[in-house]
Amino acid sequence: MLRISQYLRELAHAEQTGQWPAPSRRDSASAPGPVVIWNLIRRCNLTCKHCYALSADHDYAGELSRDEVFAVMDDLKAFHVPVLILSGGEPLMRPDLFDIADRAKRMGFYVGLSSNGTLIDPALADRIAAQGFDYVGISLDGLRETHDQFRRQSGAFERSLAALRLLRARGVKVGLRYTMTALNAHDFEPLLDLMRQEQVDKFYFSHLNYAGRGNIHRGKDAQFQSTRAALDRLYERAWQAARDGRDEEYVTGNNDADGPYLLQWVAARFARWAEPLRARLQAWGGNSSGVNVANIDNLGEVHPDTMWWHYGLGNVRARPFSQIWMDTRDPLMAGLKQRPRPVEGRCAQCQYLAICNGNTRTRAQQLTGNPWAEDPGCYLSDEEIGLPADAAKAAPRRATILLKEVGHA
Ligand code: SF4
Repeated sequence: MLRISQYLRELAHAEQTGQWPAPSRRDSASAPGPVVIWNLIRRCNLTCKHCYALSADHDYAGELSRDEVFAVMDDLKAFHVPVLILSGGEPLMRPDLFDIADRAKRMGFYVGLSSNGTLIDPALADRIAAQGFDYVGISLDGLRETHDQFRRQSGAFERSLAALRLLRARGVKVGLRYTMTALNAHDFEPLLDLMRQEQVDKFYFSHLNYAGRGNIHRGKDAQFQSTRAALDRLYERAWQAARDGRDEEYVTGNNDADGPYLLQWVAARFARWAEPLRARLQAWGGNSSGVNVANIDNLGEVHPDTMWWHYGLGNVRARPFSQIWMDTRDPLMAGLKQRPRPVEGRCAQCQYLAICNGNTRTRAQQLTGNPWAEDPGCYLSDEEIGLPADAAKAAPRRATILLKEVGHA
């Protein structure tokens, strides 16, 4: 996840004082354990078009029991995992969700909740607020018509929006999660307006797990062009907010080329701050699947992150998470933990590899079968990444694919 606002606040500070601020202690401390996104339940009251968990409104056999979840939490705590994001399916459909959240809070985890929001009425909002969730993320795919189409339920938008309002009114930190596609790009700007109007704390721009047609069209690909235009807008918006001292957060996920793209955006406008920002982005380090981000699914299987549901590393019923996570006999985990990663093609030659870390390996793996091939979802041109302008002509063409949505909730 790229925390755009954090870097642009630092830029605003640098513009005001003439000095780039030192990283906070939290930023400079080495990360303890990974952030764990935990899909506690697969059942969902919705059947969204882009659901990576392919959830439906029925129970799924074999899910971890409450006691099993508690045992895993003990191991996660001992392994210095700082953050649990409780997700699904729809996590609020799990009857013991509040028992789990309560224990997690008492153990000292930062606890987030990823929900579609449609079940949150005033009573449930009271309960969520009383529980002390540190953050609640609610997905909105667009305004009313678009969202209801994506979610395949009329009235879903109104209920999700009502949930945001109910939680905000109770002082809960809330975020709006938006995954842009060709079908909802027209609602991006109105959603930014809605965020401000509703005083939502965070806007999470999630990329669709899209892979383009290969290098020869990379600069002209319509999806890549609209991605770049959206990011320009998002960076501009986050910069205005940082300059005006607004307490709004803008983050992106699922495409780590956003880091180099932010660097280019800043370098074009504030050239003297490009180098300090480059250092900060290198410290961030780009894609962290298998390192600082982990996923446990509803059956207890561990994955390098939520994009790797087709690849299991082991099950917490058989081995503690802490052992599975550090076991580099698995070749994928060995490569993900390697720095630099053993990436190939244009990623291996890219001037931004230390920032981006080769981006999203699952796109390469699903398209080519090779998890270390160049990321076909990179929207930066060959010139931008430091390759000769005509390098693309030598590259083979590939088929266009659209992979499933990859975020949570
Ligand atoms: S070429 Fe690869 S390493 Fe470079 S920015 Fe693109 S995805 Fe990241």
